[in-house]
Amino acid sequence: MKKIAILGSTGSIGTQTLEIVREQKDIEVLGISAGSNVKLLEQQIREFKPKLACVWTEADAKELKSKVKDQNVKILSGMEGLIELAIMEEVEILVTAIVGMIGIRPTIAAIEHGKNIALANKETLVTAGHIIMPLAKEHHVSIYPVDSEHSAVFQSLNGENHKEIEKILLTASGGPFRGKKRQDLYHVEAKDALKHPNWSMGRKITIDSATLVNKGLEVIEAKWLFDIEPEKIEVVVQPQSIIHSMVQYVDGGIMAQLGTPDMKLPIQYALYYPERRPLMGKRVDFFELAQMTFEKPDTKTFKGLDLAYRAISLGGSMPTVFNAANEKAVALFLEGKIGFLQIADLIESAMESHKRLEEPNVSEILEIEQDTYDKIIRQI
Ligand code: NDP
Repeated sequence: MKKIAILGSTGSIGTQTLEIVREQKDIEVLGISAGSNVKLLEQQIREFKPKLACVWTEADAKELKSKVKDQNVKILSGMEGLIELAIMEEVEILVTAIVGMIGIRPTIAAIEHGKNIALANKETLVTAGHIIMPLAKEHHVSIYPVDSEHSAVFQSLNGENHKEIEKILLTASGGPFRGKKRQDLYHVEAKDALKHPNWSMGRKITIDSATLVNKGLEVIEAKWLFDIEPEKIEVVVQPQSIIHSMVQYVDGGIMAQLGTPDMKLPIQYALYYPERRPLMGKRVDFFELAQMTFEKPDTKTFKGLDLAYRAISLGGSMPTVFNAANEKAVALFLEGKIGFLQIADLIESAMESHKRLEEPNVSEILEIEQDTYDKIIRQI
C-alpha cells in the first residue's frame, strides 16, 4: 500500500485525489485536511479512515471532534495541525492541494522529514521556490508536479537530457474572456469569470485563469521545477486544451503531452510515477476534434502574464508581492468589491511600491504577504 496525506482534501484537487484512491484501491490515506468544510471532512473521515484530520480553526476542530467521536482519528487545527499532518511518520507522499501561501510551512516541514511531494499548491513554489528546491535536493526528496502543464513538461522530459532543452512551451486555454478587449471587461462579474471553457477547478484558480495570472504563476512555477530561465519559457494559447504543454529541444524537436482536460491524469501520474495506471475517462478523438489552433496571449488586455514575468525577472521577494496582491485582489473580486480589471491594476501598484528583498526567508515572505494584503485593503 502506498501511504499518503493530503493538505486540502476537500477542494477540487483534493477530492479528485480521493477519487483516484477510491479507484486504485492500493493507497492508504493517513491524513487529510480542510479549511472549514467540516461536513465534507467528516464524510471523508468515515470513508477513508485517516489517522489524523485537520481544520483551520479550533472551533471547527471542536465541532468535527464531536461529530466523529465514534472514529479512531486525531483531530487537529491551525498551522501546527497542518505541519503535524505533513510529517506523519509513515507518509511517503504529501499531496499539497491546499490553496495559497499557507502551504509553505507544511511543505517545508514535509521535505525536511523526507516526504516526497505531489505539488499542486503552486503559490508555495512561486513565493518560496528559492527555499523549497534546494531543500528538496538536500533531503533527496522528489517534487512531482500536479499542475497539468508542469506534469506535461515532466512527461515530455522523460528519457531526455535536460541540458538539451531549448525552451518550454506552456499552453494556455485563454480562459473565459479570450478574444475580449479591456472595454468589454469593465462590467464582468465573478459569475462570468468562473465559467472556465475547459477545466473544472477551484474558484481562485478559475479567476486566475481568466486574468492570465494563473499562467504567470505557472511560468514562475516552471522556472523553479525545471531550473530554467524565464526567457526560455513561452506561453502559447491553445484554446482546445488538448496539448497540455511541450518541450522544444536544441535540434528543433518538440515533445508534447496530449489528452482530454482531466486533472486526474496528472494527479495519478504524480502519485504513481514512473508507473502509468489505467484511468477511465474520455479519450481524445482527433477526428471529432478536427483541428487545434494556436494564438499569442493577449498581454495588453490581460496584464497578469507580463506582471509575472516582471516579478520573476526582478526575483527575490517580488513574486511574493505578485502572488499576495493577486490573492487579496481575487478575494475582493469574488466578494464583488472590485472590478475584474482592477485585479491586475492592484497587483501592478503593489509591485511598484515594494522594496525588494533579495532572498527572503519564510518569516519575511509571510510578513510581506500580510503587508501586501494590508496595503491593498487600504487602497480600496
Ligand atoms: P480549492 O479552493 O478547490 O481547494 C482548496 C483546499 O484548501 C480546500 O480543501 C480548502 O478547504 C483548503 N483550505 C483553504 N483555506 C484553508 C486554510 N486556511 N487552512 C487549511 N486549508 C484550507 O482549490 P483547488 O483544489 O482548485 O486548488 C488547490 C491548489 O492547487 C491551488 O494552489 C491551485 O492553484 C492548484 N491547482 C489547482 C488545479 C485545479 O484543477 N483545481 C490545477 C492545478 C493547480 P475548504 O474546502 O474547507 O475551504
